[in-house]
Amino acid sequence: MSNFRCAICGRIHEGELTPQNLVCECGSTIFYKERPNTKVTFSSD
Ligand SMILES: [Zn+2]
Repeated sequence: MSNFRCAICGRIHEGELTPQNLVCECGSTIFYKERPNTKVTFSSD
């Protein structure tokens, strides 16, 4: 399962987002996907 974090207010939305609910309470439709149980490492040096 993935979590999504609002790009504007930072609110965490748990579960899967669908186009029908992909709107934050702040009105934002921009989300970042988060994986709380996975350490993400960027290796673009
Ligand atoms: Zn928001």
